[in-house]
Amino acid sequence: MNPSADATAPPARRLRGTIADETAVSSSMRRLDLELEEPVAFQPGQFCMLNLAGERALVFGRPFSLLAASGRRLSLLYKVVGRGTARLRDAGAGAPVTCLTPLGRPFPAPDERPRLLLAGGVGLPPLIAWAERWGRPRDLRCAGGRDGDDLPRGLLGPGWRLSADRPAGEPGGRAVFAGNVVELARSLLPAGAPAHVVLACGPLPLLRAAAGLADERGWDCLVSVEERMGCGYGVCRGCVVPRAGDDGYATACKDGPVFDARALDWARFGGEGAA
Ligand SMILES: Cc1cc2nc3c(=O)[nH]c(=O)nc-3n(C[C@H](O)[C@H](O)[C@H](O)COP(=O)(O)OP(=O)(O)OC[C@H]3O[C@@H](n4cnc5c(N)ncnc54)[C@H](O)[C@@H]3O)c2cc1C
Repeated sequence: MNPSADATAPPARRLRGTIADETAVSSSMRRLDLELEEPVAFQPGQFCMLNLAGERALVFGRPFSLLAASGRRLSLLYKVVGRGTARLRDAGAGAPVTCLTPLGRPFPAPDERPRLLLAGGVGLPPLIAWAERWGRPRDLRCAGGRDGDDLPRGLLGPGWRLSADRPAGEPGGRAVFAGNVVELARSLLPAGAPAHVVLACGPLPLLRAAAGLADERGWDCLVSVEERMGCGYGVCRGCVVPRAGDDGYATACKDGPVFDARALDWARFGGEGAA
């Protein structure tokens, strides 16, 4: 199954803008709203390369999935993990940014088959965007976090089933499954359940488990890989992932970030052999 390669998709543009708003949406996730110089459109699964402008600029922008766009307003969800994301958090409203967007191949629009959405941690934004754009009642949406407080509950409507490695509480009175998001899906779709197309985004162990579930059941599976990136458009090759079928590599930024799980060599993925 191929990720979308929509010939009518708008080309990426480098836009200037400012931080309009920045706020915590869970114990670890923050929402960032940008006001850009021009309106933007995107397909769920696409991302941007974001950098602060002026003296606070980093050498390389950082990749973030696109959560929502409305006119010139572009929204992202992120976790502070290092220098770049800490600078974003601390920059404050009005700070100038540059944003190269939209980049990458998105998750395709749905066909008649139900979807199983598996989203973990910073893998939530593209699948929240997909569910907002195309979600139907027969699709099963599963979101996972480290603990109950980690989940951005305000962004996960009642259609989302929640899981957490350590479910400390029940966010908003909703049940939180104890375990990871793939274990949650297995409990809701036991062997013999109707076929679903899996859409997964999150850390590598989640993607590996999602691909394993799909392989076991004979279901199609699309994964979005969040590798470290330099340029965002296929030139630096800093984000390569091992391709199945030969010893080669594909770029996460240009050939992905969404791949058919069968197109990746999971034995080489994340191992010593990765270039
Ligand atoms: C296509 C794509 C979409 C992404 N979407 C989001 C998103 O929506 N929200 C979000 O919070 N993050 C997202 N990320 C990850 C995000 O880009 C990184 O967390 C960010 O670049 C870290 O920058 P930093 O300077 O704060 O961290 P650094 O100082 O560069 O690194 C700090 C720590 O984080 C680790 N790290 C850095 N980048 C990654 C990565 N990509 N995967 C795993 N570990 C990493 C480093 O190894 C290091 O341990 C996405 C990545 C990609 C490729």
